[in-house]
Amino acid sequence: MELIESLLTNNPCYQANLEPADERYAAFQRSGPRGLMLHSVGCNQPKALVFVRGWDRADYDRACVHAFVDAGTGAVWQTLPWNYRGWHCGGPGNDTHLGVELCESAALRYTGANRFEVLDRETALADCARTYRAAVELFARLCRTYGLDPWTAVCSHKEGAQAGIASDHGDPEHYWSGLGTGYTMDGFRADVSAALATAAPFPKPEAPADPTPDPGTPAGPTPEAETPTTPETPTEPTPEPASPTPEPAPEAPASELPYTDVDPRDWYADALRWAVEKHIFGPGQLFRPEAPCTRALAVVLLRRLWNALQTG
Ligand SMILES: [Zn+2]
Repeated sequence: MELIESLLTNNPCYQANLEPADERYAAFQRSGPRGLMLHSVGCNQPKALVFVRGWDRADYDRACVHAFVDAGTGAVWQTLPWNYRGWHCGGPGNDTHLGVELCESAALRYTGANRFEVLDRETALADCARTYRAAVELFARLCRTYGLDPWTAVCSHKEGAQAGIASDHGDPEHYWSGLGTGYTMDGFRADVSAALATAAPFPKPEAPADPTPDPGTPAGPTPEAETPTTPETPTEPTPEPASPTPEPAPEAPASELPYTDVDPRDWYADALRWAVEKHIFGPGQLFRPEAPCTRALAVVLLRRLWNALQTG
C-alpha cells in the first residue's frame, strides 16, 4: 500500500483539531478512532489529488476526511492525522469514527443521486477493485493500530445512516452495486479480518499535549516521524466538475456558481448548482436570491424543468 501524506492543514477542520476547538476534538485525539467509516466520493473523479487540492483551503468548511484512495493508482492519500476528529459523515459518527473516501472511476456518468451509467465497464471495475484492495489493507492496518475488531468497528456511510450516526447517504454500496461488483460491507469486513494477521500498525500519533509534561522526558516520535512519501511528479488533475453529485455537500468538490451574489455555503447553493447544470437557470452576474418569482418566470422554469427531465 502506497501511503502519501498530504495533510489538509488549511482546512478549518484541521485547524479545529490543532487548537483543539472543543472537548470532542480533544477526546478523539486522546482515544483515537473507535470505529472506521468507509465512503465513496459520489462523483466520477478518480484522482485523490483533485480532492486534496480542492479541500486544502481555509474557505472549504464543509468537510474533511482522513484519507482518499486514488482510483487510478490505489495510493492512499492521508489528509488528517488518524487521531484527529474529522467532518466526514454529517452526524455523531464524527465523534467516534475515522472517515476514508474511495475515489470513483471516471468511466461512469452520474444521472442522479446514487445512479450512474457505466461508460466502460472493464475500466470501471479495475478502478473500483484497486480502491477496494487498498482500503482493505488500510483498514486492517488501522484496526491493528487501534485494537479494533473489523466486525464491530467497520461500517459504511450508508450503514452509519441506518444506525443514526451519519447523514442520509448510500455510499459506497451504491457504487459497488451500481457497477455489479458483488462487493458488500460484510465481504469487506471479512477481507479486513483476513488481512489483520499480517497488517503492520501505523506509528500512533501523539495525544494532545499533557497539561503537566515531564520536562525530563524526551519527546516521543511524532506522527510525522514516518518519512512522508511525496508523489513523484503529481500530474495536473483535470478539474472536471463532478456533475450531479449523489453525495451533495460534504463529499465532492462543488462546481463554481456563475453568480457573484451567491455564497457557495448558502443553504440553497447546492440546489442552485443543480438547477444551473440542468439549464433551468442560466448564468448571469446576479442571481438575486431575495427577488420574487413571478407567475411568468414560474411557467418558464416549469418548461425548462420539463426539458431537463426529457433530456435526462
Ligand atoms: Zn459518505
